[in-house]
Amino acid sequence: MSEGNECIFCRIASGEIPSAKVYADEYVTAFRDINPVAPTHILIIPNRHIESVAHVQEEDQEILGALFLTARRIAEESGLSERGYRLVVNAGTDGGQTVPHLHVHLLGGRQMTWPPG
Ligand code: AMP
Repeated sequence: MSEGNECIFCRIASGEIPSAKVYADEYVTAFRDINPVAPTHILIIPNRHIESVAHVQEEDQEILGALFLTARRIAEESGLSERGYRLVVNAGTDGGQTVPHLHVHLLGGRQMTWPPG
């Protein structure tokens, strides 16, 4: 769907739109969610535009690995590893995805509940 100049997360990854960045490398960028729903709420995104998990391809395996490894590393650095945290990937309309650029929510600092809303 939206790419490049059209996509807000592409523009955050490129630095065109400011964000509270916590990490960036050649594959991924992590930044604080503008509307946090937990004491720690960080988004980890691929730098390259991928619309959602429904759009990932075989050749995206390295990027997908980088998303999870980065989430684990940031969780550790944020002091969340001992008590735990939640990773959320919304996909499509029923999944509650509002920004059509693949992202992993890292949520921590409070007790999560199940089932999600
Ligand atoms: P989702 O509903 O899974 O697509 O999540 C999109 C997330 O992006 C929401 O939690 C929003 O608060 C967050 N968000 C949208 N725009 C920005 C922005 N400019 N900077 C940081 N977070 C954002």
